[in-house]
Amino acid sequence: MKPLSLYLHIPFCVRKCAYCDFPSHAGREKDIPAYVDALRGEIIGAGQKWIGRRVETVFFGGGTPSVLTGEQMKTLTDAVFSSFSVSPDAEISMEANPGTLTPDKLAAYREAGINRLSIGVQAMNDRLLHAIGRIHTRNEAAEAVRMAKDAGFENINIDLMYGLPGQSIDDFTDTLHQALSLPVTHLSMYSLIVEEGTPLYRRVEQGEEVPGDEETLIMQHTAARIAAQHGLTRYEISNYARPGFECRHNLVYWRRGEYLGLGCAAHSLMDSARFSNTASLDEYLSGVRMDSYEPLTATDALEETVMLSLRTAEGMDLCEYRALAGSDFPGKQRHIDRLVLESLAFVRGDRLILTERGMDVLNAVIELLA
Ligand code: SF4
Repeated sequence: MKPLSLYLHIPFCVRKCAYCDFPSHAGREKDIPAYVDALRGEIIGAGQKWIGRRVETVFFGGGTPSVLTGEQMKTLTDAVFSSFSVSPDAEISMEANPGTLTPDKLAAYREAGINRLSIGVQAMNDRLLHAIGRIHTRNEAAEAVRMAKDAGFENINIDLMYGLPGQSIDDFTDTLHQALSLPVTHLSMYSLIVEEGTPLYRRVEQGEEVPGDEETLIMQHTAARIAAQHGLTRYEISNYARPGFECRHNLVYWRRGEYLGLGCAAHSLMDSARFSNTASLDEYLSGVRMDSYEPLTATDALEETVMLSLRTAEGMDLCEYRALAGSDFPGKQRHIDRLVLESLAFVRGDRLILTERGMDVLNAVIELLA
């Protein structure tokens, strides 16, 4: 049987950030105990349904999973360990935000079996953190990483964002240098997307400026250069790691491995179908689970394979692509030849891999090959 990954969603935050359109709620702390109970029940039920599947990675995402107490987290990890066959060397990650961590909590998370922490730092600059509505300061972010290390976490990711309102290239370079002076093994860097319906969207509509495409591209190149100087390799368009610290859970997503999402708003890819739970916290708490179920066609599989695999440094398996493209492959092969000719991609063994220039125009490449 194929290995399985579990995603567990914790939809609570201390405060809603100005750019956030994720399924998370602020001011619903009183619902956390009931949610933990409900999620525990869903984990146990899923363990009975998918019996015999070996779990290689578990990821607690949010929201802010670190609003949970150590005891609540242990309730959930105990449910996972007792309901599924979890590999002894499984990667068990949780997202955490500065401002919600203490040494005791971190020790309790370790005790609960968490062995990888992903900390939402976003910027090492108080002005920018304030502008995007984060609850923490630069010093608190640095302190959170150090506390995690002191608590025994050897595998620590930090998330950074670029393209923030009022952020210059120098600001971002400074953030990178500060962040990489911390004991981290992994860096995720995402460009801010100003999503409709968020407070930031309204501010931008009223004239607040965010960096343009050219500046964000320079920031992306700066990130790659500085991460490399610090010994972190780009293994996915937005992710960098020290050797051996690539996020195994996220690699499952990019390789289209099977994962089961549990909790409010969680998404799954299982048995050639994508499905998701209700995004409504109230519905979830009242017992509603599945919201959508979509069996994937061969065309969906082709599009997803192109979209996900070309993001990575290992690239796309051309044998798999040829099989999915079927009779369309000869036309696609001409596009591949052109990409190689223009140094946007290269072929190594059976894989098509994008160069840094190819990554810069990823969307256009996907459109050609999907
Ligand atoms: S911490 Fe993350 S999930 Fe929570 S409001 Fe901010 S961006 Fe959204």
